[in-house]
Amino acid sequence: MYHHIKKLMYTVNVGDPDPRFGNMLLEQFGGANGELAAALQYTIQGLNCPDLARKDLLMDIGTEELSHLEIIGTLARMHLKPMKTSREAAEADPLIAIAGGGGVALHNSQGNPWTADYLKITGELDVDLRSNIAAEARAKIVYERLIDFCDDPGTKDALQFLMTREITHLRAFMAALDSMGKDPLEIGVLPPSPDIVNKFFNDSTGEGDEGETDERGPWNQGEGIEFVEAPAKLEAQVTSGQVAAEIKRAGKGVASGAGKPRGKKTSNLR
Ligand code: MN
Ligand code: MN
Repeated sequence: MYHHIKKLMYTVNVGDPDPRFGNMLLEQFGGANGELAAALQYTIQGLNCPDLARKDLLMDIGTEELSHLEIIGTLARMHLKPMKTSREAAEADPLIAIAGGGGVALHNSQGNPWTADYLKITGELDVDLRSNIAAEARAKIVYERLIDFCDDPGTKDALQFLMTREITHLRAFMAALDSMGKDPLEIGVLPPSPDIVNKFFNDSTGEGDEGETDERGPWNQGEGIEFVEAPAKLEAQVTSGQVAAEIKRAGKGVASGAGKPRGKKTSNLR
């Protein structure tokens, strides 16, 4: 059950409201990596979770994210407030000013409505924890960019708090995944096919305009890894070799007066 206490998890002070920055803040309110998405993703994963220790973790963090939603929503509302009365402020985002009355709604910074498709819930605990680790990393980098674009010290302070908590969550999810004791490549129960899993296909070849070339690293070499030239490239080489041979044969054929079969098909095009 939920209970609401009329106090923010972190005190929010805004000096100069900036409606355009308020609009950017909505990315963390109703955006793909925002606080509502985090709160619902972890909470719903928790509802599905048979592991009671990690269910507790998911519910703890899912609930904290709701408190973050309250902070970011309050912060955004304070920045958007001039849109209620100022025509100039309203021009920063007509959707918020005209449809939303200068308040917060579940949109991202581009005005796209929040969607449940943001939530990554597979019903497989270790897979979900990996999604959460990635989600926290994305939330962290979005907060960092917001801080970079912010001039108001009070706003920066609140964003620094929210950004820091995402690292705390990142660490907790990583520890929860590690402590499950699964091999990093052990996903689900079915083993991968042994003759295919270790092959690395060199599918991007040649030299690029910026000097890019084929690189080797631990991802495509080392114990158990077989580096395989791109199957499509080999096929193209074989095909181009055949075509060259055919052209050569055709050339000779014309000279000897015995090379007509390839031309015959074109008669079907009439
Ligand atoms: Mn958060
Ligand atoms: Mn978080």
